[in-house]
Amino acid sequence: MALDHAIIMGGGMAGLLSAAGLAEQFEQVTIIDRDELRTEGPEALAPRRGVPQGGVVHRLLALGETTMEELLPGLREELLAAGCQEWLRDSQDDIQEPGTLALTRPVLEGVIRRRVLALPAVTARQGAVGGLLTDDEGHRVTGVTVRGGDGGELHGDLVVDAAGRSSRAAGWVEGLGAERPRALSTRVHVAYTCQRLRLREDALPSGLQHVVVPASEALPLTVELEPAGNGEHILSVSGTSRNLPPTDLAGLRELVARLRDQRLFAALEGAEPVGDPAAAKAAGSHRLRWEEVVDAPEGLVHVGDAAAAFTPLYAQGMTMAAVGAATLRDAVRDGDLAAGFAVQYHRDLAARLDPAWESAVARDAQIPGAELDLEPQRR
Ligand SMILES: Cc1cc2nc3c(=O)[nH]c(=O)nc-3n(C[C@H](O)[C@H](O)[C@H](O)COP(=O)(O)OP(=O)(O)OC[C@H]3O[C@@H](n4cnc5c(N)ncnc54)[C@H](O)[C@@H]3O)c2cc1C
Repeated sequence: MALDHAIIMGGGMAGLLSAAGLAEQFEQVTIIDRDELRTEGPEALAPRRGVPQGGVVHRLLALGETTMEELLPGLREELLAAGCQEWLRDSQDDIQEPGTLALTRPVLEGVIRRRVLALPAVTARQGAVGGLLTDDEGHRVTGVTVRGGDGGELHGDLVVDAAGRSSRAAGWVEGLGAERPRALSTRVHVAYTCQRLRLREDALPSGLQHVVVPASEALPLTVELEPAGNGEHILSVSGTSRNLPPTDLAGLRELVARLRDQRLFAALEGAEPVGDPAAAKAAGSHRLRWEEVVDAPEGLVHVGDAAAAFTPLYAQGMTMAAVGAATLRDAVRDGDLAAGFAVQYHRDLAARLDPAWESAVARDAQIPGAELDLEPQRR
């Protein structure tokens, strides 16, 4: 029997992919985002305000590609039609195996958005979710309050928190009298500046697609040049441990000149910038242990960065958002939304997140000055 209404807070990667999974099972799925979620015109494939990291390099792992394809069959073909580029590489290991598409985050998200919002059950609404509605006892979430846009209240059988790193759901749940989830975190202070470029023809030696100049003691910034689809490349400069990359084009060019990497220097000669450089930062990895909160209200689940966010260097975030969306779809398909659903879903999710989390934390720990807060006690 179809369920009535799912409400998704946030229409980024996790929200859109969750909608794709839940559209099979709910009569109606409403995505609420602060931004207008456009599907037409150039803005549909451009960075947007609600995702400030959208302009920097976003690599998609193989697991993300296959999980997204499973949620939205035919997606790969649509991405290729939108200009994403096939990229054949050697694989490494399970959690870090790189994908086979060169793309940008706005194009990936824009193609997924167009596809998901075309599903008959799914609609998007602009507005900011400001809080939760519950039954009289506060034991079940029954909807959300929305500010901006049409505002008001929205009622549903399931509320999905896909509001990203800035989700305020932990505080809302605590306000209902439940325990706040334990927060595990690392701080490694990552910063990126990226510039999309059109290179001259034959700017790179034949067969060379990706140039990496790792950070060194003399220059603690990693510089990479790689394809980004639509005939473009992306130059990315990233630093950890509060080492900040330059944020303007002149500074990036100066840095490349200092590197003395002949391939990179030659490749950038005559390259034309596409738009302005994009910069973004992240403190590190962050995870909320929702599976431990046995008194959390029913009817509310968390997915994507709202559940676990990873240090961006390892390119796990969008992949684990997709894995979370598939886990949620399976949990709804295999069970019902009765008491115990939320904890069981969060346990299933934790089991899927664990390998990626452990790998991220192990690599974070190697970064000079890393601060790890992995066994915090409940307050
Ligand atoms: C610098 C940087 C580089 C990265 N590089 C990579 C990479 O190479 N590969 C990779 O896989 N991942 C990368 N990531 C991680 C990736 O961006 C995230 O993991 C991914 O975006 C998570 O998706 P999400 O949907 O959970 O959150 P988001 O994409 O952040 O989306 C959250 C959405 O919720 C909306 N929202 C928030 N609050 C509300 C509210 N109250 N009401 C309504 N809407 C709301 C926002 O507008 C936004 O649309 C990187 C991150 C950073 C910071």
